[in-house]
Amino acid sequence: MSEQRKPGFETLAIHAGAAPDPSTGSRALPIHQTTAYVFEDADHAAALFNLQTVGFIYSRLTNPTTAALEARLAALEGGRGGIVCASGHAAQVLALFPLMSPGDEVVASTKLYGGSVQQMKNTYPKFGWKAVFVDPDDPENFRKAITPKTKVLFIESLANPGGVVCDIEAIAKIAESAGVPLLVDNTLATPYLCRPIEYGATLVVHSTTKFLCGTGTSMGGAIVDSGKFDWSRGGKFPSLAGPEPAYHGLNFYETFGDMAYTFHGHAVGLRDLGPSQAPFNAWVTMLGIETLGLRMERHCANAQKVAEYLEKHPAVAWVNYAGLPSNKYNKLARKYLPKGAGSIFTFGVKGGYAAGIKLVDSLELFSHLANIGDAKSLVIHPASTTHRQLTEEQRIAAGAGPDVVRLSIGIESVEDIIADLDQALRQTNQPAAKAAE
Ligand SMILES: *Cc1c(COP(=O)(O)O)cnc(C)c1O
Repeated sequence: MSEQRKPGFETLAIHAGAAPDPSTGSRALPIHQTTAYVFEDADHAAALFNLQTVGFIYSRLTNPTTAALEARLAALEGGRGGIVCASGHAAQVLALFPLMSPGDEVVASTKLYGGSVQQMKNTYPKFGWKAVFVDPDDPENFRKAITPKTKVLFIESLANPGGVVCDIEAIAKIAESAGVPLLVDNTLATPYLCRPIEYGATLVVHSTTKFLCGTGTSMGGAIVDSGKFDWSRGGKFPSLAGPEPAYHGLNFYETFGDMAYTFHGHAVGLRDLGPSQAPFNAWVTMLGIETLGLRMERHCANAQKVAEYLEKHPAVAWVNYAGLPSNKYNKLARKYLPKGAGSIFTFGVKGGYAAGIKLVDSLELFSHLANIGDAKSLVIHPASTTHRQLTEEQRIAAGAGPDVVRLSIGIESVEDIIADLDQALRQTNQPAAKAAE
C-alpha cells in the first residue's frame, strides 16, 4: 500500500493493529496469555513505571493482544487511542472515571440501553456522581440541563432498543460550546454504520459483546478517544490536566497531549479499577471484526426486509425501525446511518402481553434470550423478562409496554427469518391470545 492512500474501512477491519508477529512470523494475532513481562534491566523497569517509556508491565494495565484490539478500534472509529475492558458497562464507568469527581454531573439521554440507565441511576450516586436525563429528540434539552458541574454529555448514536437516532452533530456543538466532551455509545451502529467522531464526538464507548464480536461468545467493552479535546480547558478536568499524585505529580495532558486520555485509562483507570479484558476475548473479538462490514451489510438488509414485512402484517400493531420511511427517525438515520439502520428494533404484537409471550414461545429459528448483535436472530419480550420488575406504568415509559417485542435480526437466509415470524405470528392470532387481550 502506498503512503498516500488511506486504507478503506474493510481493509482496516482486517489489518489495523495486527501485523504479522515479528518474532515468529505468525500471520494470525497471537493470544498473549501472560500476566507479566520481563524487564530488560532495572533502568528499563524504572522507565516503564515512571511512564517514560511505553511497554508492558502487567496485563491488568496493558497486554499485546488487547492492545491490538485497541489499535484496531481506534482506527475504525477514526480516533487517536483506545482502551478495552471487560464489558460495555465497565467501559462506561472507565470512560467517566477521569472526567468526574464527587458532586459532578453527566447529562444523559433518556433513550439509552436499560442497563445504562440503571447504572447511572443506582450506582453512580455511590461514587457521588449524578446523572441528569433529558429527551434527546430536542438537542436543546442538553443545553438547558448543563450546569457548572456538568462534565460530559452521554448519548447513544442508535439507541437500544427503540430505533432512536440522535442528532450527534447538533449535540456535539452544544457540548463544545459548554466546554465538555460528548460521549457516544456506538454499540448498535458499530463504526461500520456510524463514526461519531466525524460528527464532533470526543469519546466513543462500545459493548464489543454485541456486533463487534458478532457471535454471542465473548464479553468486552471499549473506549475510543478522538484525541481532539483540550483537557486543560476551563480547569474542569484535574485528573487529566492537573498533577497526578500516583505518578509524582505528572500532568497527563502536558506530558502525553492527544494520548493523555488513553494513557490515563490504562495507567490509572485499568490499574486502579481493574476491569481488564481477557486476551482470549480480545482475540475472538479481533476475528469478529474481520467480517464486521460483511455482517453489518447483511444484518441491515435482513432487518430492512423483516421490518417492511412486519409493517404490513395483520397481527402487528406497529413497527419501530428507523430504516422505514414512515419512521420519525428516518431522516436522521439517512444522515447518520446511510448504510443501514442496524438490525435491532421493536414492534408491537396485537393481543398485548399474552400475544407477546405466545410469540416468543412459538418462534423456532429465533433464540429467546437477553442479548443482541449475534449472527443468530434473537428475540425478547421485555415486559415479561428484562423489565419484569417494573410497574406497568414504568414499563410503558421505558418503551417496554405489554405488546413490545424486540428483535435482533441475524444473518441467516431472510426467507427463513420471515417464515419463522409468520408461523409464530399466526399462533398469536389464536382465540386464546385474543381472549387475553
Ligand atoms: C449491551 C449494551 C451495553 C452493556 O454492555 P455489556 O457488554 O453487556 O456490559 C451498553 N450499551 C449498549 C447500547 C448495549 O447494547
